[in-house]
Amino acid sequence: MKLTSPIQDFLEELYTQCKPETGGQVATYIPELAKADPNWFGLCIATASGAVYEVGDTRQEFTIQSISKPFVYGLALEDNGRDTTLDRVGVEPTGDAFNSISLDPGTGRPRNPMINAGAIATAGLIAGKSPAARFRRILETFSLYAGRELALDETVYRSESETGHRNRAIGHMLRNFDKLTSDPGPTTDLYFKQCSISVNCRDLGIMAATLANRGVNPLTGKQALRGEYVESVLSVMGTCGMYDYAGEWLYNVGIPAKSGVAGGVMAVLPGQIGIGVFSPRLDAHGNSVRGIRICEELSRKLELHLFNRAATGKSTIRLQFSGADFNSCHVRGAAEGQELRALAKAIQVYQLQGHLTFVTTEPVLRDVLEQAPGLRYFILDLKRVFSLNESAGHLLNSLVEKLAANRRTVIFTHCQHLPLLRRMMKKKLGARFEQIFATFPDNDLALEWCEEQLLENTRHAHAAHYKSKPTDYELLQALSESELKIIQPLLQPRKFKAGQKIIRAGDEAREMFFLARGMVSVYLRDEETHRLATFSPGMAFGEMAFLDGAPRSANILADTEVECDLLAMDDFTALGKQHPAIKIKILEKLCLNLTGKLRKANRELSLFQ
Ligand code: GLN
Repeated sequence: MKLTSPIQDFLEELYTQCKPETGGQVATYIPELAKADPNWFGLCIATASGAVYEVGDTRQEFTIQSISKPFVYGLALEDNGRDTTLDRVGVEPTGDAFNSISLDPGTGRPRNPMINAGAIATAGLIAGKSPAARFRRILETFSLYAGRELALDETVYRSESETGHRNRAIGHMLRNFDKLTSDPGPTTDLYFKQCSISVNCRDLGIMAATLANRGVNPLTGKQALRGEYVESVLSVMGTCGMYDYAGEWLYNVGIPAKSGVAGGVMAVLPGQIGIGVFSPRLDAHGNSVRGIRICEELSRKLELHLFNRAATGKSTIRLQFSGADFNSCHVRGAAEGQELRALAKAIQVYQLQGHLTFVTTEPVLRDVLEQAPGLRYFILDLKRVFSLNESAGHLLNSLVEKLAANRRTVIFTHCQHLPLLRRMMKKKLGARFEQIFATFPDNDLALEWCEEQLLENTRHAHAAHYKSKPTDYELLQALSESELKIIQPLLQPRKFKAGQKIIRAGDEAREMFFLARGMVSVYLRDEETHRLATFSPGMAFGEMAFLDGAPRSANILADTEVECDLLAMDDFTALGKQHPAIKIKILEKLCLNLTGKLRKANRELSLFQ
């Protein structure tokens, strides 16, 4: 069974609705364009996350024409930077037509890069050793945007070159004002070629989605334009992309767009989607009639207008909880556990999600600062954060510094996928970086570290050095002195080196262990990544098999040098026959242990509901 997406259904309906629209004329001033079938009609939507929807003639090739202008402008920015580029071409919309010779009367600077004059001046900014090399760079860049190898339509190129006297005249004007610095011939020719690159409607959708995705093609993952220049390209599209219709376009459709005389329209909603439409009949401004209609409908029906945005700030904090409600996997003895219950209130964990920007980071900052007087540790879990920009990085940096100055600690977890954070912290914190920037691979390790810090001051003896006696063993707490004397000879002392595996998952269980000295940790899998628990002296492990006799379900490793007392299952069974009261007391303790664990697990699970 294959279900079609309701989005596909919607687009097909829209397509059918707009198809009867036959207003406008196919462009004829470039003779070769006049050969287009006026009925061609294609529509493609591509999301910034890489989903593509197509209806109609989306694989029909046509020349990109003026839609080349924003892409070449982006390349010019990469080659020359903003200042030099702005010296040669302005960014003010004109109320004039695309082929107007509209240069600033004083400076001769073309008003913007979306009209022909500005586009020719922009073509003059493309680096390369020869005209052929410059065109090759343009073609390669366009191919990165489209995610496939594009080619020049020689026939259209020749047709335009033979008739493009007006554009040549513009080239000479630009040379006169030094907005082109060499013979205008090769640059005008480069402009004709960039306009004659052959694309289809699907390409337009994907090229638009690449701009929507900050310059990275969402299908190939390749960068076509440096992220920092995307805003400049989209700005000129927004204000000048539809020529003398640009103001109304922004008002009605509100999506930066660019049209071409072959009938293409490309629209980009930053961060969200790209739209490509192809229909060769043009209105008096030189914009595709159906192209405009489709974009208007999409904007209205899907509420895509740039200035119609929901507030996103508050959604960043997915969940937050106190370290008192959710402990690390380090299982504590009764006394220490009780102590920690009070102390761990000083730890607060924030699970953040989405994109961290100034606006989405601000609520995190506010919340942390509000709680800072009463708390000591703030764990910021970035596992579900997709990206972070510099402005968010600055905010987090100031937060870390401010709290450090007030003896509070911010700890980041799951942040390996956000290298910018580390880079920025390193740069800003300098020599204090190692000391102040705290990170842990996961929340459990971060929580444990905070707990250890909190316990440190009040702890009498550190677990690793402390040696328990059998009378301290938790499971034996209910036994009388004489009962203890009976069980003591059954305990067999064992020593393990740090790192040694004490219990292997899958093995048959024949004994349980009382931990006398050192620490051990339980891991679910062999890779020793997912820690289930850590035990300190006085506690028992491997005891579950005494209840169900099942094989070992996890690995247990010695974290430090370890001393244990081992109690064999057979001895325990024999003991139970002779002294049932002792067995019952131990089993009762064991049950209490288990109910405690179950209650803790339930409490922690409820935090995530
Ligand atoms: N190559 C065309 C020209 O310069 C591009 C114009 C357009 O698509 N609006 O006339």
